[in-house]
Amino acid sequence: MLAPGSTIGILGGGQLGRMLALAAARLGLKTHIFCPPGDAPGSHVCDRITYADYEDMAACEAFAAAVDVVTFEFENVPVASVERIANHKAVRPGVEALRISQDRLLEKNFLVQLGIPTAPFAAVTGAVTLARAVLQIGLPAILKTRRLGYDGRGQAIIHNEADINGAWEGVGGALSILEGFVQFEREISVIAARGQDGAIAYYDPPENTHRDGILDTSRAPAAISGQLAEAAKLLCKRILITLDYIGVIGVEMFVLADGALLVNEFAPRVHNSGHWTLDACTVSQFEQHIRAICGWPLGDPARHSDAQMRNLIGNSVENWSALAAEPGAALHLYGKAEARAGRKMGHVTKLFPKS
Ligand code: AMP
Repeated sequence: MLAPGSTIGILGGGQLGRMLALAAARLGLKTHIFCPPGDAPGSHVCDRITYADYEDMAACEAFAAAVDVVTFEFENVPVASVERIANHKAVRPGVEALRISQDRLLEKNFLVQLGIPTAPFAAVTGAVTLARAVLQIGLPAILKTRRLGYDGRGQAIIHNEADINGAWEGVGGALSILEGFVQFEREISVIAARGQDGAIAYYDPPENTHRDGILDTSRAPAAISGQLAEAAKLLCKRILITLDYIGVIGVEMFVLADGALLVNEFAPRVHNSGHWTLDACTVSQFEQHIRAICGWPLGDPARHSDAQMRNLIGNSVENWSALAAEPGAALHLYGKAEARAGRKMGHVTKLFPKS
């Protein structure tokens, strides 16, 4: 168990790193962020920062030497760099979870091996396999790059055969998967943490809406039965146990009209659909992650209020003064200098009496 005063190394300096650093500070722990040079929201609130490219192995070694445990807030950190760091210090949740979640094909195959239902999918390596995949999966379908896709990037919807070539160009001819388009009733996620003693704490699954492929709102709790919420947690548990996972995970799921659950993907880190836990729970997902990776007992994930979180994306953040004046609204701004389109600038959570 890392004592207060210990230093947590965080790979990635975005808003997730920022909120992890704030949670660590509350527990008397220090943070050292490693990220490429640039406007890093995490840099404003951490104890130490290393600006270097993730591929800079000497910088990775020096970082590992300077901290007591390492985690990541961004799943596209190169596995080779994390492996190098893991030679010196414990990396939690671990290299395997990172490796699988970086590649949609590995991730889908991993889920299938665990008997976890997913959308139908097929690997795409070129125009010929794409044509074959369309025959196998049917249309509509979504072409997604295997790697480096996030917030709807690296994705193209294929409604009919005339879209196929454009979709292939749209993903830049990168190794991809074709996924059947799921007519879901709603989207939910399971935000959970597993501690070093194997204990698992689940937050009540939130219900999520997306706009342009980017999370727009998360409402907790989701409008689903208790039985379905338990089923969703069990799917998440299978992933946590198989990976001997330590830390917070976010597992995104589709709920179908007949109540079936399909797992879309998992993020081996704190998750945007868990931001409401900052204001609606005694122990937020960020503190829970810090507790888990430091070997502390997990905190109580119980929700004391219902919550609705909305992301402030691009210039919607310009409304900040009105939001700050709104009674019962908890405003979180990430300190990013420039409000580019599609950029997550902050979020606002409204609380309601617990249902
Ligand atoms: P992803 O990058 O896989 O998380 O996808 C972002 C969002 O696109 C999801 O949260 C869904 O709203 C939508 N989406 C992704 N995959 C599918 C699918 N197979 N069928 C329908 N909608 C999807």
